[in-house]
Amino acid sequence: MIQNTGKIELPEGKSIALTLTFDFDSSSVWMSSFGKTSPAYMSRGEYGACVAVPRILDLLDEYGLKTTFFVPGHTLETFPEAVEEILARGHEVGHHGYVHEDPTDLTADEEERILVRGLESLDKMGIRPLGYRSPGFDFSINTLALLEKYGFVYDSSLMGNDFYPYHPAPVHVNFDKANEYDPPSPVVEFPLSWYLDDFPHAEFVQFRTGMKPQSQIFEIWKTSLDYGLAHEKDALLDVAMHPQVSGRPHMITILEEFIQYALDKGAWIAPFREVLKRTEF
Ligand SMILES: [Zn+2]
Repeated sequence: MIQNTGKIELPEGKSIALTLTFDFDSSSVWMSSFGKTSPAYMSRGEYGACVAVPRILDLLDEYGLKTTFFVPGHTLETFPEAVEEILARGHEVGHHGYVHEDPTDLTADEEERILVRGLESLDKMGIRPLGYRSPGFDFSINTLALLEKYGFVYDSSLMGNDFYPYHPAPVHVNFDKANEYDPPSPVVEFPLSWYLDDFPHAEFVQFRTGMKPQSQIFEIWKTSLDYGLAHEKDALLDVAMHPQVSGRPHMITILEEFIQYALDKGAWIAPFREVLKRTEF
């Protein structure tokens, strides 16, 4: 299979596109992905909405940056003031499930119902999302068709490239059809990877992950950006973060350092809705 990749027509004088995206899960990630509903876990979501989001919005304003927040319906309904502030500051909001459901755990009907429920929550705040990010960065075999059915223009959940958008064409898992592919989807994929995500490096989940020094993820971000600048052309680096992770003092400090480093290297930092306008196939 030859991957159908696109490239980014960068603004004059810019060296690489960079998306600094936030998955504003608040409590939903603990409730759904980790099965935790105790007050301390809920308070970590509250921290994201009440402390981290305002702090991150102020940092982005300081550098005149706009970005994309992916927000589950449950977060929209629990913390509407935070989402209103995100919109008021000019950022983009995309779909991120209803209560952070992993699509691979769902039947086709359940997945569609949840997708629609998330859309309804967004619609109540006047948001018609262009893009989707799967909670947990995974698709079921039905996800792509559902995104097409409900008119999503782009997705940012898959991991088929480092630096270039592409039209996904899923590989069959049926071994008898191992060399057959579905036709490429009209949906534009802005790929990401777990390596560039703050959560597995930094967020402590008892006996599982996190507690790594913040310098570790800074090195991965910086090294990836440097590789893109040295070896790729008209490329995009997609960094995924979470307010309740990257809003912590030690993390937002390295985020600011990374913003300064990237701007110094001529990066164009933009929301997906702007990158989309400059994506060519
Ligand atoms: Zn999430």
